[in-house]
Amino acid sequence: MHLIYAAATEAAPESTNEDHAAGGDGWALVLDGAGRYPGRSGGCIHPVAWVVERLGTRLGSHLTQWPEQPLTAIVRSAVEATMADHGPTCDLSDPLSPGATAAVVRLRDGLLEWLVIGDCAVVVDQGEGGITSVIDDRVDHLPDAPVVEGRVRTYSPDYVATVRNRPGGFWVLGAVPAAAEHALTGSLPLHAITQVLLCTDGISRLTERYEWSWADVLALSEANGPEALIRAVRNAERDDPNPQRWRGKRHDDATVVVLRVSQVNA
Ligand SMILES: [Zn+2]
Repeated sequence: MHLIYAAATEAAPESTNEDHAAGGDGWALVLDGAGRYPGRSGGCIHPVAWVVERLGTRLGSHLTQWPEQPLTAIVRSAVEATMADHGPTCDLSDPLSPGATAAVVRLRDGLLEWLVIGDCAVVVDQGEGGITSVIDDRVDHLPDAPVVEGRVRTYSPDYVATVRNRPGGFWVLGAVPAAAEHALTGSLPLHAITQVLLCTDGISRLTERYEWSWADVLALSEANGPEALIRAVRNAERDDPNPQRWRGKRHDDATVVVLRVSQVNA
């Protein structure tokens, strides 16, 4: 039994891609850069894409080096290593320091294990057994969250500073190792799984904004590959009659990884 990996990623038009996708022997991940807020440094001199790339590299190498470690321990160690990479130029105690949301899956002991934190998603297709979606939507259920109406509707940075990486708020990876223990984790037997999809919220907006089902998403990627999902998102965004109604940008970086589970031994 093994996993066949396919991925696609695309920056929002006219911007730098702050998403990241990777896969190795029995694992895969996606990351989505979180922060930074206009006018705020977040205590860090590094671009968000740098933080995302460091986290992705550390996660990939730790997943490969330590296959017996729990996923939470691997994620914690990757955050700690990334924090060390910043060096003395950065004050990582700033609650708005740049980081990333993440979805990680791994094949171990006949199970597919996942870890999801922030607004990335893992979607598990069990064929006749249905679809299991794992989405960390705590950021959408914050108490008394003020939405600021600007060019982009968003939460006010002062408010985010009080709920980011705090109990009762929401968690992202980057500057707080304990965030790993607040991720959503779980597993399912691999033998019943036909495919697994990991994506950033630039893709999951098909379901959140544009009324797609996860079955629709899986069917399109199965028929035409992961790139087709990015084209579908861009079409939906372009045709959106009122993108101002959403919290967040009209276009976002969009990244998707699809793992097809081959029940034949490689
Ligand atoms: Zn930094």
